Amino acid sequence: MQNVLLNNGVEMPILGFGVYQIPPEQTEQAVSDALNAGYRSLDTAAAYGNEEAVGRAIKTSGIPREDLFVTTKLWISSAGEENARRAFHTSLRKLGLDHLDLYLIHQPFGDVYGSWRAMEALHREGTVRAIGVSNFHPDRLVDLIDHNEITPAVNQIETHPFNRRTADQQVMRERGVQIESWGPFAEGRNNLFSNPVLSGIGAAHGKSVAQVVLRWLIQRRVVVIPKSVRADRMAENLDVFDFELTDDQMASIDAMDTGESLFFDHRDPEVVSRFGKLQPNT
Ligand code: NAP
Repeated sequence: MQNVLLNNGVEMPILGFGVYQIPPEQTEQAVSDALNAGYRSLDTAAAYGNEEAVGRAIKTSGIPREDLFVTTKLWISSAGEENARRAFHTSLRKLGLDHLDLYLIHQPFGDVYGSWRAMEALHREGTVRAIGVSNFHPDRLVDLIDHNEITPAVNQIETHPFNRRTADQQVMRERGVQIESWGPFAEGRNNLFSNPVLSGIGAAHGKSVAQVVLRWLIQRRVVVIPKSVRADRMAENLDVFDFELTDDQMASIDAMDTGESLFFDHRDPEVVSRFGKLQPNT
């Protein structure tokens, strides 16, 4: 597995396993299958409702803790200095861990600054190796960086061939923040898995569309965390280190960019308000 070096010297696998939308009752099996397939980085969130199941799979795997990289996220309803600290310890307990590798602010809403102060303190205390954010557009990211002590190690944002986020990545590169893709396959939207450009490139390498997309992201030094509940696809999504896309192939995938989200715009007041009211069972 290739790693990326985060801005505080911590190494993070460039490819991991995401568990969004895996129902809690299926998550233990899915994570066990992923660990068996060879994944060592896991991405969950308090809002996904499946941290306990992730924790059970980690425990039964017997894999040494230092070989794993575990990420979870703070939901908006737990924002603020005291609440964030409490939510962090709840997540740790649910995961059955004594420290996290990466803790992210899930959405750029609510008392983000209070949350960040709590996360800075948790990092200094050594219970989390790296702290970061998710769904931050460059303006919000730069504001957080410029008015706090610790620069986020990671910003996890929607990134896939239809929304490639190169301008965002450039800002992150300049500021030392690692880009991480969520929705690398756009969750299959826009018929991604039967896209002719991606299928053609896959055929040239004897690889699937999913593998081509992950390879394109990895060659751009974007961390990826594809989700699947199927063991065959988990293995397929890991098998992306034995081929290389040419500059022309990279450029033809780049050309698929629409510059827009296929999901939601975090700068839309309706989205801000709707997300702020969500009360997942964290
Ligand atoms: P995704 O990884 O883009 O797509 C998952 C979909 O692709 C599932 O329907 C899966 O179906 C299918 N799939 C996976 N591998 C495949 C393959 N090789 N061939 C064909 N189909 C395949 O979507 P995502 O789960 O939204 O994103 C990945 C992770 O990012 C999440 O799990 C989560 O950890 C994180 N995320 C974070 C945020 C955030 O706000 N920070 C938002 C969304 C996601 P099967 O499961 O049936 O195989």
